[in-house]
Amino acid sequence: LVVAENVHKNFGRLEVLKGIDLEVERGEVMCIVGPSGSGKSTFLRCINHLEKLTAGRLWVNGELMGYRQKRGRLYELRDSEIAAQRSDIGMVFQRFNLFPHLSALGNITEAPMQVKRMPRAEATAKAMELLERVGLPDKADAYPEQLSGGQQQRVAIARALAMEPSLMLFDEPTSALDPELVGEVLDVMRDLAEGGMTMVIVTHEMGFAREVGDSLVFMDDGMVVESGVPSQVLSDPQHERTQAFLSKVL
Ligand code: ATP
Ligand code: MG
Repeated sequence: LVVAENVHKNFGRLEVLKGIDLEVERGEVMCIVGPSGSGKSTFLRCINHLEKLTAGRLWVNGELMGYRQKRGRLYELRDSEIAAQRSDIGMVFQRFNLFPHLSALGNITEAPMQVKRMPRAEATAKAMELLERVGLPDKADAYPEQLSGGQQQRVAIARALAMEPSLMLFDEPTSALDPELVGEVLDVMRDLAEGGMTMVIVTHEMGFAREVGDSLVFMDDGMVVESGVPSQVLSDPQHERTQAFLSKVL
């Protein structure tokens, strides 16, 4: 579902991604781990074209992100076309990024109504289903500031799901949470994974990566150093840099 080919990203003279090649199959849960500054967030942002690649290509669901190919040449897509590509990709960030002036329900119905022109009644019914699914059926009218961090993240997941994305990206969705709230968010993500959602998850939750992940990618210094089945990479890392990193976090 995701194909990254030789993805490079520079910020000015800083080379942040130095040629990432990877593939995520439909239904696969890929966890990405690695030290701070290794380019994990940048790579996620490249997947949905929030960052423009310096070089390389990236496809999601068969679509070349950000470009149209015509007679062997690449043409940049317009913002509206990029937005359309992006609407197929849900993203949940580390910091709660709900609209503060909208209720949980309002947050979830916003995009389907604005982007997909879904009638309010239908969007609301769907949002209630999603709130149920993330375990918050009684929080429809609550505003973000009235919700705990874990509840806010679950609303953020419901909001992303409301667009029926074929891919979900998570950037350290639990790392800003109090420890007792981490589990409720991971449980929702586990359910999603079991439901067959394709997911790319940057996380420091190694237990989750081992249990739920189909694959684990270790990134360091803008490169994929090592990847494979999570239990194997975690218990028998081949590369020295992976070993050093894991010895610090496990
Ligand atoms: P962390 O685990 O701390 O979240 P990360 O692996 O997600 O780290 P990135 O956020 O992708 O790392 O950042 C990689 C490098 O790119 C860092 O050196 C960062 O300072 C730099 N960087 C990221 N975004 C920008 C930007 N918009 N402009 C300039 N430099 C940036
Ligand atoms: Mg990051």
